[in-house]
Amino acid sequence: MKRTIFALSSVMLIGAAPPPSPDARLRAIIAPASPVRLRQTIETLVSFGTRHTLSSQTDPKRGIGAAFNWAEAEFNRTSAACGNCLAVARTSDTFTGDRLPAPTRITDVFAIQRGTERPNDVVIIQGHIDSRVTDPMNATSDAPGANDDGSGVAAVLEAARVLSKHKFSGTIVYATLMGEEQGLYGGKVLAAYAKAQGWNVVAVLNNDIIGNSCSSDGVCDSTHARVLSEGPRSQGQDDLAAATHSLGGENDSPSRNISRYLDSLADRLRIGLDVRQIWRTDRFGRGGDHIPFLELGFPAARISVAVENYDWQHQDLRTENGKRYGDTIDHVDFAYLAKMTKLNIAALAAIASAPPPPEPKVEGAVSTDTTVTWADVGGATNYRMYMRRTDAANWERASYNGHFFATPLCMFDTNERRKKPGDGTCLPFKATLDHIRVDDWVFGVSSVSKDGFESPVASAVPGGAFKPYVAPPKDEKK
Ligand SMILES: [Zn+2]
Repeated sequence: MKRTIFALSSVMLIGAAPPPSPDARLRAIIAPASPVRLRQTIETLVSFGTRHTLSSQTDPKRGIGAAFNWAEAEFNRTSAACGNCLAVARTSDTFTGDRLPAPTRITDVFAIQRGTERPNDVVIIQGHIDSRVTDPMNATSDAPGANDDGSGVAAVLEAARVLSKHKFSGTIVYATLMGEEQGLYGGKVLAAYAKAQGWNVVAVLNNDIIGNSCSSDGVCDSTHARVLSEGPRSQGQDDLAAATHSLGGENDSPSRNISRYLDSLADRLRIGLDVRQIWRTDRFGRGGDHIPFLELGFPAARISVAVENYDWQHQDLRTENGKRYGDTIDHVDFAYLAKMTKLNIAALAAIASAPPPPEPKVEGAVSTDTTVTWADVGGATNYRMYMRRTDAANWERASYNGHFFATPLCMFDTNERRKKPGDGTCLPFKATLDHIRVDDWVFGVSSVSKDGFESPVASAVPGGAFKPYVAPPKDEKK
């Protein structure tokens, strides 16, 4: 095999000493995540008795209202500790539905840590604060929801505490949602808010059931996180269907590339957690609060335990034939929950430190070469191009000499004076791959910040962009 099969019309960036390793910085950032604080959060959430969406929103001690008031106060405490670095907010809407017999106000409480350079690029971590027992309409029985989803809320609050000690170029949103068990209402409310704000949502990490490591059949696994992601993207799929049938991309939605990103991150950080990528939108026949985001075209994935325990979720608290049922705190594995939380914190920090992914396009039909082009996203000092065989699960680097540093040509004007990226004078970036047949590969490109933080890879496929799909204007029929 020829080794120099790629000829890039560019040169390597010339630079000073390399910056500190981004992964080393991520390891330092996630280290303070505390199982003790995670436990305290879940103990407090359980103390509200029930957090059912139809329970009291005004009782100061018991019910969903007491719980979200506490979560909001917790965000405020975290913000006070960082010189008011968080903007704590609420957003609400009122719904009626199968599990909401009367109009019910659904309120999400969240904290925004504004990015220093790219405040409109947003990464979201979320968990649902509501809980339930066997009957989804039972709003009075104790529903501790320690794992579902006290664990997710605990991760959200801990991520805010840990990451608010640092500054990031992009924005991080920490969100606790209501109404998940009644029909994913909190997800709908926050997704609509994100759209109304015009946020460029790069990723939503939906944490739901992330704190148990043993199932009812005795199977235990405290070394894997499941990351569930959609295949063909929900939003725009009708418009994209024909192009996908022709060009492929069923396995390259932005959500799936977030899944690959988390897998790679977990491997590199060595936190004792491997990612098991589950290539379906959610667990079999079930749903979660990432789905309303997918429906609006925002990249989102669900993070969940390796093995669920069905005796410990959505169950009345009881003992039958010596077997205990119910989502109680004694079933939470806090060492495991701490690892799951660290994976989240690392992903938030990495994505908020990196520019958003570019939107690569590929050409090469009936040619012995392939050309990949993309436009500057601004804030990127270089880009990495990846490829993989069409039947390969993950991006391949090593077998083809790894990544590519495509010189950002457009950062230089005709006098070769350096310009700031994103100043509107750039030509599209371009990589030409000699002797590479486009038929046999999938291509993708990530953006890299000046200090080395890399975005998720965006695939050069129909619907591969991280932004909501917009159908091109239809040609006027003659
Ligand atoms: Zn849940």
